[in-house]
Amino acid sequence: MSSLTVLHASQIVTLSGPKRSRVGPEMSELGIVRDGGMLIRNGMIESVGASDEIEKNFGDANIIDAGERVVMPGFVDAHTHLVFAGNRLGDFERRARGETYEQIAKAGGGIWSTVEKTRAASEADLLTQAKKHANWFLCCGTTTVEAKSGYGLNVEDELKILRVVRQLNEEVPLEIVPTFLGAHAVPREISPGDYVELVIQEMLPRVAAEKLAEFCDVFCERGYFDIDRSRKILFAAKNIGLKLRGHVDQLTNSGGAKLMAELGATTADHLEQADEQGIAALKKANVQAVLLPGSVYALGARWYPRAREMIDTGHSVVLATDFNPGSSPTPSMPMILSLACTQMKMSPAEAITASTINAAYSLNRGNKIGSLEPGKLANFAMFDLEDYRELAYWFGVPQTHSVYIEGECV
Ligand SMILES: [Zn+2]
Repeated sequence: MSSLTVLHASQIVTLSGPKRSRVGPEMSELGIVRDGGMLIRNGMIESVGASDEIEKNFGDANIIDAGERVVMPGFVDAHTHLVFAGNRLGDFERRARGETYEQIAKAGGGIWSTVEKTRAASEADLLTQAKKHANWFLCCGTTTVEAKSGYGLNVEDELKILRVVRQLNEEVPLEIVPTFLGAHAVPREISPGDYVELVIQEMLPRVAAEKLAEFCDVFCERGYFDIDRSRKILFAAKNIGLKLRGHVDQLTNSGGAKLMAELGATTADHLEQADEQGIAALKKANVQAVLLPGSVYALGARWYPRAREMIDTGHSVVLATDFNPGSSPTPSMPMILSLACTQMKMSPAEAITASTINAAYSLNRGNKIGSLEPGKLANFAMFDLEDYRELAYWFGVPQTHSVYIEGECV
């Protein structure tokens, strides 16, 4: 592998700092180097600093002139539903006409329509569609994504999705972190209690045996998996060595945040309806809050999670797209940064920390990615901007110039 020298970035946003996720005021500290440069060897960052300093030591490295552009760590998207079949264009149009979720489900839409299409699809077809979406993420400057199962809802189809995730990870440059979300909804053909048993007795052991996931997630919500059933599933997952994430307190406050704190989960995701006690419990238990403003926006809702309050009280906040066909059909982290700043009163710097280094720690990869520091992988994006704040400011404009994973332009 060759050496590479990046020179003359208007700003290198290094995110250098403590070797842990950033909390409270730390989220505003981006470690920016003006007229910055970076030396890369064998896919790893060797040094970062002022261009003239880096230039002295570049040796035989190939030079990339960043041309006064912004250079940042690639985005780390810590919550996506990357693998599914088809789309939900019909639902989208019905919602635009003002129909409710119930009316849409009655008309054959909702998650069940995606489950039926995903069950019917072959691994090859799912892989083809997922590759297209993986490329979208790269085009938006994202270099790592978490990807959940959850549109199979039976043993074979849940495993099929996770195998597609594994295959995808081998075939595309984007790094993909797998999460088992068998408890995404209760399928129509089985009772909720029996389905929980199926997840625990059959799905989880096979996911573990085939090493198909690093995390287990549950959709903890009235009408899906209540607190007791969610606890049962997550407890079983923890016992076989999976780390935990959870869709909690999205539509109603069911005490999901408290459950994630009780179980020592890695993240609690959504939290639109979480109350003060739930939010405080997360902080006490060191559970990271993954906020997903794209789904609030795309559903035309108003209940954005209380990011400002969380940051001001010292939480480690993460931002993610929640990429999925129903409620958040966007792979664009710059779009999420715009929503975070305009709807959740986060600063551009906080939003960048939340979508890079904090997200990397939430995926158990904080020691490898998420910042541009010596010893980390050279996963970075160059944007056609002079100032990092422009990423969140110019919304709807393609800004990516180029993306590198382990020092290779992808
Ligand atoms: Zn989700």
